[in-house]
Amino acid sequence: MEKALLAAEAVDEREVVELLRAMVRIPSHYPGPGEEGVVAFLEEYLRERGLRPFRQEAAPGRPNLMADLGEGEGGLILEGHTDVVTPGDEDLWRYPPYEGVVEGRRLYGRGACDMKGGLAALVAALLAVKRTLGRPRRTLRLAALADEEGLMLGVKAFIKGGFAQGFRGAVVAEPEEMEICLWQKGALRLQLRFPGKMAHGAMPYAGENPIPKAARLVLELERIQKELQETLPHPLLGPPYLTPTRLVASAGEGQMNVIPAHAELALDVRTVPGLDHRELVDRIQTLAGIQVEVLEDRPPVETPREDPLVRAAENALGLLGLPVRFGGVPGATDGTFLRAWAGLPVVVMGPGGKTLPHQVDEWVDLEEVVQAAQVYAALAVLYLE
Ligand SMILES: [Zn+2]
Repeated sequence: MEKALLAAEAVDEREVVELLRAMVRIPSHYPGPGEEGVVAFLEEYLRERGLRPFRQEAAPGRPNLMADLGEGEGGLILEGHTDVVTPGDEDLWRYPPYEGVVEGRRLYGRGACDMKGGLAALVAALLAVKRTLGRPRRTLRLAALADEEGLMLGVKAFIKGGFAQGFRGAVVAEPEEMEICLWQKGALRLQLRFPGKMAHGAMPYAGENPIPKAARLVLELERIQKELQETLPHPLLGPPYLTPTRLVASAGEGQMNVIPAHAELALDVRTVPGLDHRELVDRIQTLAGIQVEVLEDRPPVETPREDPLVRAAENALGLLGLPVRFGGVPGATDGTFLRAWAGLPVVVMGPGGKTLPHQVDEWVDLEEVVQAAQVYAALAVLYLE
């Protein structure tokens, strides 16, 4: 307990804020400059502070960065991502997205909240634990991974490369207002292509119109969604959704008298624990009467409430006099794969407003970032010792 408090006190407030600001000033959206710039910066930053960072190439030009404290089994991973989403139209921003302007307690910029704030807090916590424990008996690994906003190539490569092996838990610093999030929704991206047969609109009987087939499925999906929402409500994740996001059927611009050759439907499916992805895809396939293409499959996950990692998170918050609140993540994160593929208990907990990510004028509360660093430092000591 005492050491945990000492580690929290060892967090250097100015260090956290300056690190966050420096990282926000290095654009890392993809497509675009990508992670290399911020990774090179962080690598040097950690090396200057006596750590030995190392890289893994998640994809060409897209590095994961790691740094360890200690080397024993049963340790903890502190995970964050280095990529951000595009700033969009920069004229819409009150402050330029890559300047890291501070106004009062807020730091503005793309990635301030999602999630260079969380990442800066993890790095500061690692350094604070180093100052307090020196070399812990179990490994504390910082994992700053690539491509979370895309196909999550970073965490997938991290797990496939064996970098999650030998660990007992992971903290993911996504912006969740410091709630202890134990549940994460699953996601499926599905694509369906309904075949048709082109014909003159005056003689529809000569062709085969794919539009009513697609439309019928869309209506059927509404019915299934309602049924799933009634049978599988989740108190912290909210209901599952089957959302059509794209429906295209056309024989070409202005071709109003031509029955198109096919219709394409894209679905964004969000699931909760208890909803089996394979069964759901089979069900949609049967209804549609055609093959469903699964473009992305991220299972819903949960971490048991009684896991030692969860208790360490609760105790760390309590120790610092902060409220203990539980929550769920409406989207998938790198933590989804750390739980589903690597089997690690995962707590998603980080500074920043839940709805601010990807918005114009994204910002983070600097006091919350510093508090997060203190919580991570205390949590790591409680968990490792
Ligand atoms: Zn994020």
